[in-house]
Amino acid sequence: AATNLLRQTLSGQRKKKIAVMTSGGDSPGMNAAVRAIVRTGIHYGCDVYAVYEGYEGLLRGGQYLKKMAWEDVRGWLSEGGTLIGTARSMDFRQRWGRKQAAGNLISEGIDALIVCGGDGSLTGADLFRSEWPSLVSELVSDGTLTEKQVEPYKNLTIVGLVGSIDNDMSGTDSTIGAYSSLERICEMVDYIDATAKSHSRAFVVEVMGRHCGWLALMAGIATGADYIFIPERAVSHQNWQLELQEVCKRHKSKGRRNITVIVAEGALDDELNPITADMVKDALVELGLDTRCTILGHVQRGGTAVAHDRWLATLQGVDAVKAVLENTPETPSPLIGILENKIIRMPLVESVKLTGAVAEAIENKDFDKAISLRDTEFIELYENFLSTTIKDDGTELLPVTERLNVGIVHVGAPSAALNAATRSAALYCLSHGHKPYAILNGFAGLIQTGKVKELNWLDVENWHNMGGSEIGTNRCVAAEDLGTIAYYFQKNKLDGLIILGGFEGFKSLKQLRDGRAEYPIFNIPMALIPSTISNNVPGTEYSLGVDTCLNALVKYTDDIKQSASATRRRVFVIEVHGGHSGYIATYIGLVSGAVSVYTPETQINLASIREDLDLLTENFSHDQGENRNGKILIRNEEASSVYSTDLIGDIIAEQSKGKFGVRTAIPGHVQQGGSPSSKDRVVASRYAVKCVKFLEEWNKRNQLRGENVDSKVLRFTFNSQGEKVPTVIHEDESAAVICVNGSKVTFKPITDLWDKETNVELRKGEKVHWTEYTQISEMLSGRSRLRAEI
Ligand code: ATP
Repeated sequence: AATNLLRQTLSGQRKKKIAVMTSGGDSPGMNAAVRAIVRTGIHYGCDVYAVYEGYEGLLRGGQYLKKMAWEDVRGWLSEGGTLIGTARSMDFRQRWGRKQAAGNLISEGIDALIVCGGDGSLTGADLFRSEWPSLVSELVSDGTLTEKQVEPYKNLTIVGLVGSIDNDMSGTDSTIGAYSSLERICEMVDYIDATAKSHSRAFVVEVMGRHCGWLALMAGIATGADYIFIPERAVSHQNWQLELQEVCKRHKSKGRRNITVIVAEGALDDELNPITADMVKDALVELGLDTRCTILGHVQRGGTAVAHDRWLATLQGVDAVKAVLENTPETPSPLIGILENKIIRMPLVESVKLTGAVAEAIENKDFDKAISLRDTEFIELYENFLSTTIKDDGTELLPVTERLNVGIVHVGAPSAALNAATRSAALYCLSHGHKPYAILNGFAGLIQTGKVKELNWLDVENWHNMGGSEIGTNRCVAAEDLGTIAYYFQKNKLDGLIILGGFEGFKSLKQLRDGRAEYPIFNIPMALIPSTISNNVPGTEYSLGVDTCLNALVKYTDDIKQSASATRRRVFVIEVHGGHSGYIATYIGLVSGAVSVYTPETQINLASIREDLDLLTENFSHDQGENRNGKILIRNEEASSVYSTDLIGDIIAEQSKGKFGVRTAIPGHVQQGGSPSSKDRVVASRYAVKCVKFLEEWNKRNQLRGENVDSKVLRFTFNSQGEKVPTVIHEDESAAVICVNGSKVTFKPITDLWDKETNVELRKGEKVHWTEYTQISEMLSGRSRLRAEI
């Protein structure tokens, strides 16, 4: 539909004019959204205007509405805050203010408004949309505008993008800026942790979130906090202090040195009284803890955006323009959101209503309803937080017959969040009565030494922010010695296995599954959590560690771009990891604004390098004075056996005929990142708990316990008479990989994945799920435009 509209525009119809504004609190990624909107709009033949200073600028009109050129947004991906300004406008809350804004839009000939802001801004946008017809007729009846002037603007298209660090809009998993803010919070709490541990202190950290506990909840999970206070789950007015003290006392008695409590600024008790950081501190002091408060304040606005927010803002910005072009008077104004890994659209009015319903439920003290109105991920993670942190008092213990021995093994190169996932799996196991066993140093360790360690609470309590692998990892696959592995599985009576790893982990799962016929112990349920920075595990779009790697690369490319821009007229060719998978290269190309991306999936040849040269020459021709910007090209390490990073650099340098200089840069193992990113920590916790539940379900389904009848047959099922019969179970679904595809998270059987979705030779999936990123990258770098001109 967008292409059709583009054709119409080109065939002589009036040019569409789109305005974009940022509103409410600034959030990291807003600039990336504006950049994407400006360039996508221009790409589709529209005029794009930036409204400066939010709704205030809309009211003032004139110079506050500035027509944007392609070059105006150059370099905006790496800028924090919002470069077009934002404001909290009291006048827009008044009808006269909104009327004035409507008049300004019509006078400028603007057809569509894209608003990037939080729940307040989008509530305002929704009101503006609903009032539009009456505002227009008022403008005519009071003589401000004529009937002829308003005729083409009877409908205003409004599209909402959620730009907010609070993640306070219902219907979308994350908002532009939320993960950047979370990243800053986690960094700060990690710093605080170090001093808290040194002095055995308790720290109460207040984070933003007037009406939404997302930041506090995610920070609680990602920083291994002992307790959280969020508005959606108000604590008992009568005895919240007692409950808090109970949990902290218990954790201290288990040997924890420091205590961390995260308080959302909008935290409440069930009588709707605010719970402040100072009140929490008093409760901890009463317990005898040396306690300090830290109110993080504006550092949480986050500065420059993390990779996730640049990606989200870019994809949503592009979709917002497409939504404008596809809009008809009958289509409801959309809000662009995200579900797991999929950009979605939903009616703005519904989302505003749902968000309002949360606030209303809180006001009515209906906290069950308030939390149920949050998205599934929020609810799931809240439950996980309780299970792994608060309900470790025996309340969640399963009956003895349902308790399991769960093996955890790390396979392959280390990626961030291996420890965080192991920690969550272990804590969930412990609160449910299972025994978590760490297989030390991967399968090689097991084969050589048979070493398995039963993990206790204190072993793992501070693994949430540790990079690397505390239990050790190894590239050795299971097939190295299935017999010995089976022996130790049997010896430790494992009822289930969680593998954390990349392609070697994937291969090992298949080998264990295939070994079931010969070694019945492998009939236990087994789950793989894809964990590799290459993101090359077949069947899934996300692997643990990828986000940390992307953040490391975003920082690296920002630094390199700055160096390139300072030296003027310099191009860097950056070589990144990924093996035969071009995911990392493509993603980083998209979020760093690379001129070109070379991957194994796309051909490099002299023609494509020629095109790069043309694009670079064209780019530099606009770079005068203030408008300079460093240029980068990204090359995946396996992109070509002929065109190496150095060769590409040399060809471009030689062909540029002195117009610009070229350097190469290889970040190498820096890409594994140090401490895991906040997103990786949260996903790690979520997947780990999901995997233990998967093992529980399978064991329950087969009504099994690891009772050994003879060396061959390990499991019991029940026949039609209800008698126990020893059975060897070969159910493929019980050996599976946790996968994200679009908006779904599912367990996919390894056999299916191996047979249908795996390219064994190239160690990756058959499907390229990031093709769209390449297309968007080419559009936003101007390559598509250049091709069209040629
Ligand atoms: P953040 O989540 O960062 O606080 P926000 O968008 O929720 O961002 P607000 O201050 O609530 O920030 O709203 C920004 C602006 O949107 C307000 O200053 C006002 O101009 C407009 N606005 C908010 N609510 C309404 C409303 N109910 N009616 C009209 N305009 C509104």
